[in-house]
Amino acid sequence: MKKLVSIVIPAYNEVDNVFVIAESIKKVFSIINYDYEIILVDDGSTDQTLQTIKEYAASSENIFFLEFSKNFGHQLAVKAGMDNAYGDCVISMDCDMQHPPELIPDMLKKWEEGFEVVYTIREEDKNLSKRKRGSSGLFYKVLNWLSDIELEPGAADFRLLDQKVVNVFRNFHENEPFLRGLVKWLGFKQFAIRYNPAARFSGKSKYTFKKMFQLALHGVTSFSIKPLYTAVYLGFILSFASILYIPYIIYAFVNNVEVSGWASVIMTIVFFGGLQLIILGIIGIYVGKMFMQTKNRPSYIIRSTNIPIK
Ligand code: UDP
Ligand code: MG
Repeated sequence: MKKLVSIVIPAYNEVDNVFVIAESIKKVFSIINYDYEIILVDDGSTDQTLQTIKEYAASSENIFFLEFSKNFGHQLAVKAGMDNAYGDCVISMDCDMQHPPELIPDMLKKWEEGFEVVYTIREEDKNLSKRKRGSSGLFYKVLNWLSDIELEPGAADFRLLDQKVVNVFRNFHENEPFLRGLVKWLGFKQFAIRYNPAARFSGKSKYTFKKMFQLALHGVTSFSIKPLYTAVYLGFILSFASILYIPYIIYAFVNNVEVSGWASVIMTIVFFGGLQLIILGIIGIYVGKMFMQTKNRPSYIIRSTNIPIK
């Protein structure tokens, strides 16, 4: 019997891409000896994406869809797809053709060799804007410096997971999963494949600089409490520095030297006011995460699907 490969594709306003990606996956599988199914997750699209997916699913037996009740975000869309994928392995990829389906046979080959996680690393892309490249570089620098897991720059959400790994993932109920980090954290036998990303087929990127920044902050705070330690060390250093200043104040007092400069005083107050707010904010993020998680809400809500209940 042929092995079944489930392909999970999150789609948020990708009306022109759905058909193209599904067809190119079909083409890839026509030359390899595997069965496949495509699970398209509509992440609360506001355009015709859902209708397109539904029509497409109705006309072919190996296309499935999951409809979210609203936009829950890329990571949860992938998670939902994986939770409902029961192939021998599951491949997740973007809808916009930036993750080349031609790489799938190579990924499957590595999987057959015994790797349980085959992930991909995007080579430096000349098509991307300077800002995007810069922000993505900064993203990984900050992440690796501040957290306890080591992520390679360019690690993409284009990866193959063995059924074993997917089953482990099903028990994860983090309300904001950061998949790239979680996969690394899981362990298992992992292999990285490098690829050259294509340009987006249609539409534009949903990841703005703001979203990247939020993702970085989220990635750091959900994987380590290093920022809290950094705050403590910073506090010690600054207190120590201020102690060093005391002898000078005493000297000035004894010798009647006038200590001038309200400007520097104001500057110091503002600077440390800001610093305290940042650190308070960092603590707040952790407390907020605890609050969100203790409510134990479902992390995503499915409005409809054509996947038979397993
Ligand atoms: N996506 C999603 N929900 C969102 C944003 C994006 O499901 O809220 C999907 C999107 O349709 C695409 C993938 O996630 O399939 C990656 O998004 P995008 O191409 O915008 O990100 P980029 O490639 O620029 O990092
Ligand atoms: Mg993209």
